[in-house]
Amino acid sequence: MLIDSHCHLDFETFDSDRQRIIESCRQHNICGFMVPSVAPRFWPRQLRLASEYPEVALALGLHPWYVSEAAIESLRDLAKVLDSSPAPVLAIGETGLDKLKGNPELQLLSLKYQLGVAQELDKPVILHSVKTHARLQDILRDYPGVRGVVHGFSGSYEDAMRFIDIGFKVGIGGLITRPNARKIRAAVTRLPLHSMVLETDAPDMGLYGHEGSRNSPENLVLILNCLAELRQQDPESIQRAVLSNTRELFTWPPSV
Ligand SMILES: [Zn+2]
Repeated sequence: MLIDSHCHLDFETFDSDRQRIIESCRQHNICGFMVPSVAPRFWPRQLRLASEYPEVALALGLHPWYVSEAAIESLRDLAKVLDSSPAPVLAIGETGLDKLKGNPELQLLSLKYQLGVAQELDKPVILHSVKTHARLQDILRDYPGVRGVVHGFSGSYEDAMRFIDIGFKVGIGGLITRPNARKIRAAVTRLPLHSMVLETDAPDMGLYGHEGSRNSPENLVLILNCLAELRQQDPESIQRAVLSNTRELFTWPPSV
């Protein structure tokens, strides 16, 4: 069984063929999807999706590209929505920092608020980090006990290990299929197997040769195979490890 630990299946781009994609995923043994928020106005849509598909679990939060005064104001309902939701809301996010896009002050405010909620409710956080690894690690030290995943990880082995040392996993996605992504391709050959989960970040993060087109959780198998090839390990043992890592991270999916 494979789990896509990060995909935006609630996005409109999947409205026309979501059902087909989920069925096709089932045939490839991709049996679970963690769908994180980009903004509070998307929460109702995510909750609806989770009520329609038992294989969908949610993270609720505010993405660093989508920060605004109004969105941060709506974030204040996070604990309440989490508490009253019948759907499995297992994590907070995605949140984080991005040096290239979004207002830095609002990103910081939004991040600290979400880390506070994660700490209070003992939920994992899904982090987005672009050129902000060291800064994020500094901030995380102020929230002892908070754990989670740095999703769509792009960075060096050392960057990844510093996150792993403070209790985080790294989300490995389609970037590793791109031959020029040398740093992350080198990093995944050495990272401890217990530190990784797999993700597509669909509809973004197209695989090599398809960078501009819509990505799909169906591609998770290609990411697994690429990781196996880079590590020169058999895909089955990696699949077993990442499934167990995903369970450790989100306490989901239940084992059968
Ligand atoms: Zn994302």
